[in-house]
Amino acid sequence: MKCRVCRQRAVIQVKRHHANFCKDHFIEHIHRQVAKTIDEYKMFDAADRLLLGVSGGKDSLALWNILNELGYAVDGVYLHLGIGDYSSESLNLSTNFAEARGLKLQVSDLPAEFGFSVPEAAAASRRAPCSACGLSKRYILNQIADELSYDVLVMGHNLDDEAATLFSNVLRWNAEYLARQRPVLPATNEGFARKVKPLIRVAERETAAYAVLQGIDYEVDECPMAAGNTINRYKEWLNRLEEDSPGVKAGFLFGFLERGVEHFPNADRPTLDSCRFCGQPTTSDVCAFCRLQAVTLRA
Ligand code: SF4
Ligand SMILES: [Zn+2]
Ligand SMILES: [Zn+2]
Repeated sequence: MKCRVCRQRAVIQVKRHHANFCKDHFIEHIHRQVAKTIDEYKMFDAADRLLLGVSGGKDSLALWNILNELGYAVDGVYLHLGIGDYSSESLNLSTNFAEARGLKLQVSDLPAEFGFSVPEAAAASRRAPCSACGLSKRYILNQIADELSYDVLVMGHNLDDEAATLFSNVLRWNAEYLARQRPVLPATNEGFARKVKPLIRVAERETAAYAVLQGIDYEVDECPMAAGNTINRYKEWLNRLEEDSPGVKAGFLFGFLERGVEHFPNADRPTLDSCRFCGQPTTSDVCAFCRLQAVTLRA
């Protein structure tokens, strides 16, 4: 197996690009894919203040590294979810990564600052853990981006994440979610920062390979709350399709972004009110996060 560029020994095969790469040319390929995505979707430029959601996993740490190597100044934000050793270890890995590179990492702590953990919220609200977790992450990361005047919230969703989410939304024809499934969600006047996903051209196995080849120490254990997560199941199914037809996953996602989105316009959000408790934008009197917090603290 030889590298497509230099004909030296390849270390990875990327079937959907009909290419094998040596270490250096794979790293270059990944940087090019991310730069192309930022450029094509006009995600941000050097003047924007960027805040990256960091989990300690391969995707967010790989993306932090890539953006730095591309010359962007990016701060990170880590949210401690209160998921036992998994959260503590992920925090350590994120802190070590940032310190070793002289990067700034904001840390927010769900149990210490809001009084509850993700497992407690899931049990009290009878939501799936990932749903309580996603709601908390969206709320707190938005709040921090707003308070600290960042222009852009950068997220590490990769190709597999986005294709599996699209698959889930299509299975249910969830028009509201399909209208919001975009590589860029613009900032709103009500205080939501612009949200962008520069990793959507990079598959999960490629971010893992990138992290290993770059010597990035990331959380390899899966979150203990992930068992039964339907998105993970859809990822497995899509990977089976990908084995038989390399490129099908990217074709599904980018076909939607090129030709499907027009059928699901990102309609103007309804006029948002401010939450009675926290003041964040909401379509009802009390925002979903404050309701989750109230139910959990009462339990
Ligand atoms: S697997 Fe679910 S609960 Fe665990 S970090 Fe991810 S979204 Fe949160
Ligand atoms: Zn090469
Ligand atoms: Zn609120």
